[in-house]
Amino acid sequence: MKYDFIIVGAGLFGAVCARELKDKGKKVLVLDRRDHVAGNIYTEKVAGINVHKYGAHIFHTNSAEAWAYVNRFASFNRYTNAPVANYRGEIYSLPFNMYTFNRLWGAVTPEDAKKIIEAQREEVRGEPQNLEQQAIRLVGRDIYEKLIKGYTQKQWGRPCDRLPAFIIRRLPVRFTYDTNYFDALYQGIPIGGYTRMVENMLSGIEVVTGTDYLKDKARWRSMADMVIFTGAIDEYFGYELGEMEYRRVEFETEVPDTDNFQGNAVVNYTDEATPFTRVIEHKWFEFGRDETGKPIPGTVISREYSRSWKRGQEPYYPVNDEKNTLLYSRYKALADKEKGVYFGGRLGQYRYFDMDATILSALELVKRL
Ligand code: UDP
Repeated sequence: MKYDFIIVGAGLFGAVCARELKDKGKKVLVLDRRDHVAGNIYTEKVAGINVHKYGAHIFHTNSAEAWAYVNRFASFNRYTNAPVANYRGEIYSLPFNMYTFNRLWGAVTPEDAKKIIEAQREEVRGEPQNLEQQAIRLVGRDIYEKLIKGYTQKQWGRPCDRLPAFIIRRLPVRFTYDTNYFDALYQGIPIGGYTRMVENMLSGIEVVTGTDYLKDKARWRSMADMVIFTGAIDEYFGYELGEMEYRRVEFETEVPDTDNFQGNAVVNYTDEATPFTRVIEHKWFEFGRDETGKPIPGTVISREYSRSWKRGQEPYYPVNDEKNTLLYSRYKALADKEKGVYFGGRLGQYRYFDMDATILSALELVKRL
């Protein structure tokens, strides 16, 4: 055998596996069909600014292990995500916190806000059956209407009463003036971009980009003892049980003629009429400065559109509703029978993973092998 492992996909999951296996003395080849490494966390310099090409990524975790791990490959800045919501020109602080409640109702103390939310939550009793009920149960109708409904429907392409409740549980509700979006002990963006971080993870490892494993599956398979596949599990099996659903994101990137387009890295458009879900102004992930601390002139923005996915396009989010979860379990059964091939990552396991969970899950897999 030429290799101990072929790892398909040079994204975060694949890169962590490759690093760990290489450090155990294994002979590893990493393949990716795109012409670059880093998968969907790929960043690219445009006009001196690290642009998050496949959507904004903010590293956040409560795991000291995951935090120590990424810090081996990059230095992190102190960026803390504090997105702003734009609802028909009204600006609200996210996640839902005291600034939001003050803007909505004039609430000043946590007690004021709690009273209002408690009263509105009454609308839904018992276990929430869908996202709409879950949202109202969490924060009441006012917030649901202005800050959740439109955004969520745009993001998932279907009404909130036909979406699973768990999607929204990731959103914190805080009765403090803390605007940090994530409930995480550690947070930041790698200085110099994610691409450089992943390149560091892959240093000394053979990587071939622009090469599709699935186009020549049998040949690649014969070259390695084991394969770690991080692409879509249904595609691996030629969609023989049917397609699972994915959401895709499309970006409209622009270099507007200003130094400051929106005053924040992330602005969510939470109404239904605006066709995009959010606008990212990439320079604010790095405080508008280059690595020496000098202010960056100009700016780059991306408008983010959520789309349904068709075969041949890049999938981003699994749609973990009942139907797809069931189909996934049938693919998983096939995967378990596929000798020497391991499936991992967001697409391989058809699961929404944050970056820290991706890393921990890759470390776990390598330990098991
Ligand atoms: N969400 C929302 N309003 C917002 C931001 C998020 O209702 O302004 C809900 C929405 O249901 C969404 C979920 O929270 O699907 C997760 O959104 P987030 O933007 O955090 O996810 P990401 O796309 O960044 O992984």
